[in-house]
Amino acid sequence: MKFVDYSEASSQDFLQSLDRRAVPSARVREVVAGIIEQVRSQGDAALIELTQKFDGADLSGGLLVTAEEWAAAEAATEERTKEAIAASLRNITFFAKKSQRQDWSDHNEQGVQVGERFVPFERVGCYVPGGKAPLVSTALMTAGFAKAAGVREIVAATPCGPDGTVNAALLYALKAAGVTEVLKVGGAQGVAALALGTESIAPVQKLVGPGNSYVVEAKRQLIGAISIDLLPGPSEIMVLADDSARADFVAADLLGQAEHGPDSVVGLVTPSRNLLEAVLLEIDKQAQSLSRGDYLRQVLADGAFAIVVPDLSVGVQVVNAFSPEHLSLVVEDEESWLPRILTASAIYVGSLSPVAVGDFLAGPSHTLPTGGSGKSFSGLRADQFQRRISVVRMDADSVARSVEAVEEFARVEGLDAHGQSVRIRVSGD
Ligand code: NAD
Repeated sequence: MKFVDYSEASSQDFLQSLDRRAVPSARVREVVAGIIEQVRSQGDAALIELTQKFDGADLSGGLLVTAEEWAAAEAATEERTKEAIAASLRNITFFAKKSQRQDWSDHNEQGVQVGERFVPFERVGCYVPGGKAPLVSTALMTAGFAKAAGVREIVAATPCGPDGTVNAALLYALKAAGVTEVLKVGGAQGVAALALGTESIAPVQKLVGPGNSYVVEAKRQLIGAISIDLLPGPSEIMVLADDSARADFVAADLLGQAEHGPDSVVGLVTPSRNLLEAVLLEIDKQAQSLSRGDYLRQVLADGAFAIVVPDLSVGVQVVNAFSPEHLSLVVEDEESWLPRILTASAIYVGSLSPVAVGDFLAGPSHTLPTGGSGKSFSGLRADQFQRRISVVRMDADSVARSVEAVEEFARVEGLDAHGQSVRIRVSGD
């Protein structure tokens, strides 16, 4: 773990590096551009070749999950897994319905009726990562929101294993969340296939979901062909805690997020050296009883950081500069500190709110901006699956009350036909 004392001058370079910008490396940009071009020009043949290359699977017999595979997945998924999936989906649907936009209509200053209608996209794509682990929860935390918003065709892309199959529980979860087609192709090629379409799969209108740097970069490069949700890359946790925090709980959260792999970002910010020392001891202790304890300890040793700040106000500044995907806020008087956090994508308040509950069950989508992009994006929500259409309706009175200002704009912009199109409707002229 890297240790930084905020008050030491030598720490300033590191602290400046916390003000991140989610900009991809030139190498990833180039690799992804090549993959997108290959999918654009060769369609299915490119998907078969790239899946062989990156995932070691032969998909020449078919790129989509078949009805038989769906049925086998349902049969192979344990009842208790199905129950956990159902519980998570109920919370997702509850949360999604709350944040969905509602149609509205009102009158402006000139009496013009103005309003908005919200209609679901007809066909969306959900990328569900599968490189390191079958992210069953991500199937729910993407497609579940699309379904709640009323999307009819929900297509998933996810990498298959070397035997060409997709994990059974993941397939079951995709179906339960409302997915209608599954492309067994991951990475930038899976994203490109959904955005551009190939012989096997029709293109989608919008593409959502997290992934590794190739997936995220492909989404970025394909904006225009499709719209996207956000740029959700490798997972992150930052804990802002003071002496009131329990070291064992903090250590458990840090270990939990380190489980996402060596590219995950794990940080502790605290004014308390005592807490920091106790957390380090707890990490070692708890790692001993975890199945991949040595690996997790290594991930934390190589990639995690701890910053000792003079007080919590400085801690808040560090958090806002960093813009973590997940913030665990464990401080005395948490209610007074909560409103000062402006850039974290999801906040877990108090020592009894583990991030893992948000990862799997709580209801808000765990598809969240990373790499500092939380400063300009928010997490995935149901309203991102709604197209927004504005509606304007006028009558004789509101036309008459609008004509003067419109004619002035038309005069200033040199567009007299615009002015004429309103004036012609004013009765008596
Ligand atoms: P993935 O499905 O995103 O990527 C696997 C695919 O990457 C492979 O199928 C392959 O096609 C492609 N690939 C691998 N190496 C490549 C190379 N050298 N060149 C080109 N393509 C290559 O799965 P993953 O790798 O396990 O990554 C999932 C990521 O998603 C993790 O970093 C995890 O932290 C993140 N995640 C983020 C959120 C969020 O909301 N921010 C949520 C869940 C997961």
